Amino acid sequence: MCGIVGYIGPRPVLPILIGGLKKLEYRGYDSSGCAAVTPDNTMLVFKAKGKVSNLEEKTKECQQPCTLGIAHTRWATHGIPSETNAHPHLSQSGNLAIVHNGIIENYATLRDQLRKRGYTFKSETDTEVLVQLIEYIMNIRHSDLATSVRSALRLCIGAYAIAVVDRRVPTQMVAARKSSPLAIGIGKENGEFFIASDASPIAEYTNRIVYLNDEDVALIEQGKELQIENLHSGSVDYEIKEVDLDLTMLDKGGFPHFMLKEIFDQPTVLKDCMRGRIIERDGSLRVVLSAVEQHKQRLVSARRFTIVSCGTSWHAGLIGKQLIEHFCRIHTEVAYASEYRYNDVVVDPDEVVIAISQSGETADTLAAIEIAKKHGAMVFGIVNSVGSSIARQTDTGTYVHIGPEIGVASTKAFTGQVTVLAMLALALGHERGTVDHEEYEEVLRELTRIPDKIDHILRQNDRIRDMARIFTYAHNCLYLGRGWNYPVALEGALKLKEISYIHAEGYPAAEMKHGPIALIDQDMPVIFIATHHRLYQKIISNMQEVLSRKGRIFAIVTEGDEQVRNMCAEVIEVPDTLACLEPLLTVIPLQLLSYHVAVAKQLNVDQPRNLAKSVTVE
Ligand code: GLU
Repeated sequence: MCGIVGYIGPRPVLPILIGGLKKLEYRGYDSSGCAAVTPDNTMLVFKAKGKVSNLEEKTKECQQPCTLGIAHTRWATHGIPSETNAHPHLSQSGNLAIVHNGIIENYATLRDQLRKRGYTFKSETDTEVLVQLIEYIMNIRHSDLATSVRSALRLCIGAYAIAVVDRRVPTQMVAARKSSPLAIGIGKENGEFFIASDASPIAEYTNRIVYLNDEDVALIEQGKELQIENLHSGSVDYEIKEVDLDLTMLDKGGFPHFMLKEIFDQPTVLKDCMRGRIIERDGSLRVVLSAVEQHKQRLVSARRFTIVSCGTSWHAGLIGKQLIEHFCRIHTEVAYASEYRYNDVVVDPDEVVIAISQSGETADTLAAIEIAKKHGAMVFGIVNSVGSSIARQTDTGTYVHIGPEIGVASTKAFTGQVTVLAMLALALGHERGTVDHEEYEEVLRELTRIPDKIDHILRQNDRIRDMARIFTYAHNCLYLGRGWNYPVALEGALKLKEISYIHAEGYPAAEMKHGPIALIDQDMPVIFIATHHRLYQKIISNMQEVLSRKGRIFAIVTEGDEQVRNMCAEVIEVPDTLACLEPLLTVIPLQLLSYHVAVAKQLNVDQPRNLAKSVTVE
């Protein structure tokens, strides 16, 4: 799951490792550690529970020169978060050290076999089993590190990104991946190399990146050419990508938290998302997505769409379903990727599967893609991270282009995904002739106005902060919406749960009578999304039902609304827009609300407990 950093070269190793881990902190973790090898073959190991700054404290005193090092942030899957379970793990002899993200599923069987051969284990982790297995193979076969790693990985079932070093060879490291990301940075001089879970720790040193593919094992030696072998197909001709990473996007830009910065980024990054895609010519607007241009025939003739995703991306998918059904008149399903991958799914070869993921590394979504492809469906990716696994494994797709999202609770990725889905539905609807030209242009025109309207909502930040205090005492909250705003109710509830640890549920407003109404009393805030559209009067009836049970209502309303205001403890106004684009506006106050509740509760907004940014395990 979380992060790996490694370096081999002449610069001071420990500061590079610690600096790199800090850049990966956003992925969520519970402990960290690093190992560095000195030129006289000593392996130095440091580990700490909690924040990377604790690890930094421990490494500060170390003056020894090192040539190579690996580091890790752990998100515990096997064994509690503790120094003993923190990585790196050493082999029995202490010669080898490993860091690992992911899960070795058959670790128990392998551990039993190694125990029978005299191996003992200090930690509860699956990772320690892997390093012992590598050493065992090395000893019995007298093989070198890269060969031994490859042999060991062939015996493993599961997911991994790993880096392994041998203190006897202080100029080399071996790295490998399967279902968990790993990038290698080729330094500009001195034959140096960097490795990391994503390019952000590498970007300040080099933009020349090689992304490992599944089951690739890299032999990285200082001053020598990088060598990559696939576990099954042998030597790999890899491609060096020149990655353009804007480093300013990786700092908080004066905001106290990444999450708040990213909420405020939305007007700008949504313009980036639409740039070059919504085009004005001779006074009329068109949407051009290169993926649609290149695969028009297949996309336009699709008999069904299935959207696979997880978490916030799943909520964006629910809006995508409505957009595609409305503009393209094609039946669309939305599936949790984690369910889809194990269900007995019926996939039509004429179907298009849309995979949505911010990181592009979500393990369940990757597995769902594999299943869809196996059945002959075309897979279309909607991904933010350029060059990520999903971007590479889909047949085609559209990048969200909203810049790196660091805060664990997703905000700008959600609005970016919905914007892409709107553009996709309009482009396809236009090709299919299922949207009339006037509506097509009207929606596109309104889409281009959305960033300014978001800006307008953000100006109510202080009011929302004041309102948030009321919520800090709540134990439960209910979010209700209908139609286009039902997925927003789900997303609002998820945001609150994720960062403020207050239990919240999102429901279609009318469904409330079938159960959740039993929970309503004066202590439970109920948040309605009650904008001025088709179901407005219906929502008002649902609000009456809550009021009759002494519930306290907060509402998101259309600017100028009076009727709802009179029924509520507080309202937040959003500018009027077309119903189908409303989620892009109504979600903004809910993002701000959950942010301010978490801040008022003095919680760690950017790294909430137990959560990880990029969920690379199933
Ligand atoms: N499964 C390993 C452990 O529990 C690695 C977890 C991770 O990806 O950080 O230590």
